[in-house]
Amino acid sequence: MDPTQKKTMNRSVLKMKNGLPYFEIPEMAKLGWLRHGFLTRRGGVSSPPYDSLNVGDANGDQDGNVFRNRAKIAETFGFEPSRLILLNQIHQDRILLLKDAFPDLPSLLEYDALITNIPNLFSGILTADCIPIFVVDHKKRVFAVIHAGRQGTAMNITAKVIRRLKKDFASSPQDLIVGMGPSIGPCCYEIDEKVFLSEWEPFSTSKGTGKWMVDLSRINLDQIEKEGIKQDQIFAVDLCTRCQNDLFFSYRKEAQTGRQLSFIGIKQTTTG
Ligand SMILES: [Zn+2]
Repeated sequence: MDPTQKKTMNRSVLKMKNGLPYFEIPEMAKLGWLRHGFLTRRGGVSSPPYDSLNVGDANGDQDGNVFRNRAKIAETFGFEPSRLILLNQIHQDRILLLKDAFPDLPSLLEYDALITNIPNLFSGILTADCIPIFVVDHKKRVFAVIHAGRQGTAMNITAKVIRRLKKDFASSPQDLIVGMGPSIGPCCYEIDEKVFLSEWEPFSTSKGTGKWMVDLSRINLDQIEKEGIKQDQIFAVDLCTRCQNDLFFSYRKEAQTGRQLSFIGIKQTTTG
């Protein structure tokens, strides 16, 4: 198939709970044991330029506001704030694998992806233009979170996570559901040719001045499809964070800004 052919991705739906707007993937919401949401910048307590639902604590916002925003999200979606494991995303391709038992974790988690099957463990990705990606194995009851920016995408982090699911959890591609969150679109994502990869050409437009407009979502979509996942298993919040700056934090638009949370977790069952 011609990779430049515009594909229509399955959509997410916008919902509202306790004053928090969020996007949901219907195919994931249908699974009774899973909770997830791609939150926006709205509904929190932080002041500009972090207004208002900033979840990132490394960008200059007051710790108290970040804490209150995280607590509101946890309360709204029914989990303990202490069960939300966030990564210190470093734009690399390291994957944290947590299998079967809740671990003692170091405070500094320098990873850009996490895979787990542990109930009542929530994880998430913080973004302001990069792509938050969830991969769920609906049969094995495993999920992965991925932080895919330019550097992670160049290192094929999304493909690597799917390969780990196959290797460590015996996941079959046909059992996987993928959700891609809001990120900067090809309308707004300009990069210098110094960091441009030739393999991205089918998903990019040259500006003829040493600059490229790049479609990071389609590059990740290509990685996902090459791992055997079909179009009808892939869903997206198909909105550009920079264009929709009223709804999302955008680093490219604002530079000093907050981070929105995309979270996912396996609901605690009464049988343990
Ligand atoms: Zn845009």
